[in-house]
Amino acid sequence: MYDVKRHLAEVRASLPQDVKLVAVSKFHPNDYIMAAYECGQRIFGESHEQELAKKQTSLPADIEWHFIGHLQTNKVKYIAPYISMIEAVDSLRLLKEINKQAARYGRVIRVLLELHVAQETSKYGLSPDDCRQLLADGEWRELKNVQICGLMAMATFTDDKQQVAAEFQQAADLFDELKAQYFAEDDAFCERSWGMSDDYPIALQHGSTMVRIGTTIFGPRVY
Ligand SMILES: *Cc1c(COP(=O)(O)O)cnc(C)c1O
Repeated sequence: MYDVKRHLAEVRASLPQDVKLVAVSKFHPNDYIMAAYECGQRIFGESHEQELAKKQTSLPADIEWHFIGHLQTNKVKYIAPYISMIEAVDSLRLLKEINKQAARYGRVIRVLLELHVAQETSKYGLSPDDCRQLLADGEWRELKNVQICGLMAMATFTDDKQQVAAEFQQAADLFDELKAQYFAEDDAFCERSWGMSDDYPIALQHGSTMVRIGTTIFGPRVY
């Protein structure tokens, strides 16, 4: 078995104390997750609803599951009872559906707005202007069963470290702008989820409070 415990310890040692680690366990088996769990890891990230459903029912109940992938509105109802955070909200429509399903279960679901800063056109997410528009529109204020906790972003997949740094900084700047304009009084709006296995050291230099790391902890995914 891949040495999850050793790799997890190495990742942890490389993170500042106050940065949250989401261990991205998609496509990895339950025994890998349990190895990390036994080391005290509690936040795990998954990006497919059916895979998550299977894992959630068979693994310890105190795991905090973060949904980090693209979420279709018709799938929200399946994860609403237990999901700890939905990181990739990229439309008002999705936000409203999360609110509706959270209300059914008497929950408040924490979410991040997914910001698109990468150059790749294939990635989901809100452009900075879409993000401003969504908040300016104000309808989100009526949604009492979701709590917007910050932003999530992915950088372009490239070896150009300056470009990656510029994209994370763009996300950090937008976070500051939105914090000042809409969330100055709201302590819950505090998360900047950026940084994956290949780029998290750069992300940490640009305000990341939460990193989502899979491969470095669990090894290559077997699809
Ligand atoms: C898969 C995934 C990750 C983890 O990527 P690694 O390169 O394996 O660390 C992080 N964030 C999102 C949104 C992902 O889909």
